[in-house]
Amino acid sequence: MEHTERRRDIKQLTREDLARALSDLKQPAFRTKQLISWLYEKHAHSFDEMTNLPAALREKLAERYTLNIPAEVARQVSKDGSRKYLLELADGVTVETVGMPRRNKLSVCISTQAGCGMGCAFCATGMGGFVRSLTSGEMYDQVMHVAEDFGTRPTSVVFMGQGEPFANYRETLAALRWLNAEDGAGIGARHLTVSTCGVIPGIRAFAEEPEQFTLAISLHSAIQETRNKLMPGVKKYTLLRLREALDQYIEKTGRRPTYEFALIGGVNDTNPEMDALVDFCAGTLAHVNIIQLNRVKNSLLEPSTPEKAAELVRRLNAHGVEATIRNSRGNDIDAACGQLKQRVINPHNA
Ligand code: SAH
Ligand code: SF4
Repeated sequence: MEHTERRRDIKQLTREDLARALSDLKQPAFRTKQLISWLYEKHAHSFDEMTNLPAALREKLAERYTLNIPAEVARQVSKDGSRKYLLELADGVTVETVGMPRRNKLSVCISTQAGCGMGCAFCATGMGGFVRSLTSGEMYDQVMHVAEDFGTRPTSVVFMGQGEPFANYRETLAALRWLNAEDGAGIGARHLTVSTCGVIPGIRAFAEEPEQFTLAISLHSAIQETRNKLMPGVKKYTLLRLREALDQYIEKTGRRPTYEFALIGGVNDTNPEMDALVDFCAGTLAHVNIIQLNRVKNSLLEPSTPEKAAELVRRLNAHGVEATIRNSRGNDIDAACGQLKQRVINPHNA
């Protein structure tokens, strides 16, 4: 007989929902604390592991709720120690996650959606289209997967894997809060960074959140025409409106957003492009991260040169704008988002 799954994903319940669910099960209030600690802090893989909960309660929870843990279906290890995982979620959808160790630190890069609907011309994820948004639990689980694999606590998380976090705002925020929580992963808000391609309603909402989360903006060009071509999904959020939203963000939060700028040869490394970027940044609180484009299969776009990168830094600095050239980590394992997945799904791409 066909069995229809009626159980809810327990990580879709808020703190209040969990408290209510346990009180419905006639449990004393302290059980909520215990359950949250198992789900998030200890990251139990099954209800059976929750040994300080009565066996009868564990059974009832298992009857009513699912506790999903993603399964690792592929991994690549870089010479620099980074590990990139392809994780399969409960419904078979797969996403990428990266762990980047450095000395006694562990930084994790997570996906917020399977695929992405924004269609950026330089992005492997964008080329593959949109599959679905992830739940906050699925984001949290990615971090814990990396933590468990490295056997150490993560010190920072960047929401820079596949997907556009602000096209999945509510779940992204819930994940940020569990990652930040003392009874969750306990990672300081400043060490939790969300990267957006420039979804303005998301930036405006983010400015109102009380936590000091960090914001990164994928800029890639400060000339509207170029940006429209590179990032067609955010055409309607013009640079002018983006500037206004960022100014409001800075005013509200007092925090400095980071601008991501991937240098693409002949596209955004020209004189007018550099001038436009300087204009966009000068006089505002900002830090520009300059990276070289990671080559993507089936794309004609090429990285720029180290000389151009150095020149851009010089020009920005000359106008009082801080800029850093970042080396993309895990280059040898296809660091650009979307590439591991493509390769696993279509081995002929390799
Ligand atoms: N959707 C969000 C976050 C995920 S993308 C965003 O766009 O910001 C994470 C970062 O990788 C973004 O800055 C994105 O522009 C960048 N990126 C995507 N493809 C790239 C490539 N081929 N080379 C360099 N950076 C790339
Ligand atoms: Fe989506 Fe970001 Fe890739 Fe653009 S760069 S397609 S917004 S994941």
